[in-house]
Amino acid sequence: MKKKAIVIGSGLGGLSAAIRLASKGIETHVFESNPFPGGKINSRSIEGYRFDQGPSILTCPEYIEELYTICGEDFSSFEMAKLESSFKYFFDDGVELLLKHDREKVIEEISTKLHEDPKQIENYLNKAEDNYNLIAPLFIEKSLHRWRQLLGKKLIKALLKLPQYKLFSTMDQENSRFFKNKRTAQVFNRFAIYNGSHPYMAPAMLNMISHLEINVGPYLPKRGMIQLTESLTGLAERQGVNFHFNEKVEEIILEGGQTKGVRTSKGKYNTDFIISNMDVSLTYEKLLPNAKHPKKTLEQERSSSAIVFHWGMKESFPELDVHNMVFSDKDEEEFDTIFKEKKVFDEPSIYIYISSKIVKDDAPEGCENWFILINAPINIGQDWDKEIELKREFVIEKLSKRFNRDIRSIIQFEEILDPRTIENKHNGKFGSIYGNASNNRFSAFYRHPNYSKQIKGLYFVGVSVHPGGGIPLALSSSKIATECLYEDFKIH
Ligand SMILES: Cc1cc2nc3c(=O)[nH]c(=O)nc-3n(C[C@H](O)[C@H](O)[C@H](O)COP(=O)(O)OP(=O)(O)OC[C@H]3O[C@@H](n4cnc5c(N)ncnc54)[C@H](O)[C@@H]3O)c2cc1C
Repeated sequence: MKKKAIVIGSGLGGLSAAIRLASKGIETHVFESNPFPGGKINSRSIEGYRFDQGPSILTCPEYIEELYTICGEDFSSFEMAKLESSFKYFFDDGVELLLKHDREKVIEEISTKLHEDPKQIENYLNKAEDNYNLIAPLFIEKSLHRWRQLLGKKLIKALLKLPQYKLFSTMDQENSRFFKNKRTAQVFNRFAIYNGSHPYMAPAMLNMISHLEINVGPYLPKRGMIQLTESLTGLAERQGVNFHFNEKVEEIILEGGQTKGVRTSKGKYNTDFIISNMDVSLTYEKLLPNAKHPKKTLEQERSSSAIVFHWGMKESFPELDVHNMVFSDKDEEEFDTIFKEKKVFDEPSIYIYISSKIVKDDAPEGCENWFILINAPINIGQDWDKEIELKREFVIEKLSKRFNRDIRSIIQFEEILDPRTIENKHNGKFGSIYGNASNNRFSAFYRHPNYSKQIKGLYFVGVSVHPGGGIPLALSSSKIATECLYEDFKIH
């Protein structure tokens, strides 16, 4: 008889797990509490502007390609542009740094503007690439909790380079050792935030993230980031996945230590296996209140959150690129305030993403759709309305001065997202964006595995479990979880 699987949540982890299961001929049902798929990757169109609500930076499209391949579909239908420049940085002293998608030009730009030794920049980028190529196939694409999946030549090769990973240094210690200008270190420290961490605490190994953006370069899907959700939902539907929107899972039903089914807001359903894309802590707390909870794993420090302003701007800014960072001069203080004091820093760095630079339909002619993100702590009941008011003023003042225009008068439309929205809309614990933070060198090992050690038939995907936060890792989590499931139930 055909096996049956239930996926709880249609975030990227859930969608990709459903595609994988259905492609194996398993009857797959996805239950989603929202009326739309995609979780944090959704979009809103209003007054002629379209805004990506969650992620803006796409790297590792090969993980998406793999989903097309296993379904026997042509990935070229997923149209995307490789951006000419990865990022534009604005420093307080007036220096601007534009990192083109060309390694020689990156080296030239950093050495000219920040006075670094070109050889040293090249060594750094080579090292990031080398570390990524050694580590990713093991730590990102395999379960860390099933040793037999890890054992092999790749592990030996990676272990032989152990000193190179600087296991006892933080990202900032390594970046400050490599570069003489504090600003260069700040550019490379920034990658800590790609999994919601503090670069002065996160292990130096995470510096390899820069490889994906600087050496390989980010992509932008032709219809904006929402294309990820739309395309993967289409792929899932063509594989026969059944979607149940507006249907929240309220309980996981067990029998003899094994998953038997779920109870939702609308009824009861039997199943052979369950893959939860709901935050792992909340899965235990809300859906399995009587089961034994892996307490230590679930109590790990959470990643950062964000305040996001969506501004429809009635003018265009040629001095800005698709991805821009207007840096704060005090980045260590900013990260300390977020992670240690759980407050938003008074003078934060400001990220500006403008998809309409490439996706022309995202804003009326001559206008731009600004997505402004400032890093924030998780929601522990701070006065967010007050924080938003203060930070909005700060951002307007700072950008008006920097770009010599009255930003306030150019904002035609505004919507705001804060940690409360992220928590409530996506059922993300405390509004953290990337699950657990990686603020110590053992974080990777403290993430919950992609399966339950106590409950047979229960698996986990998404940012709150191994390998962690961000699009590539959420996609990888579904590969690891389904491979564990196939191994456990001998599905070939
Ligand atoms: C503002 C912001 C900016 C970001 N920027 C980037 C970026 O630039 N690059 C990047 O790679 N990543 C970024 N991320 C992170 C990225 O969005 C996630 O890593 C990615 O979307 C994977 O999410 P996920 O699979 O964990 O699922 P989620 O998106 O968290 O989805 C989980 C889904 O499960 C549903 N659900 C939960 N509980 C239940 C239940 N009981 N019953 C039914 N349904 C349930 C929720 O409604 C939701 O749809 C950003 C996120 C945010 C919010």
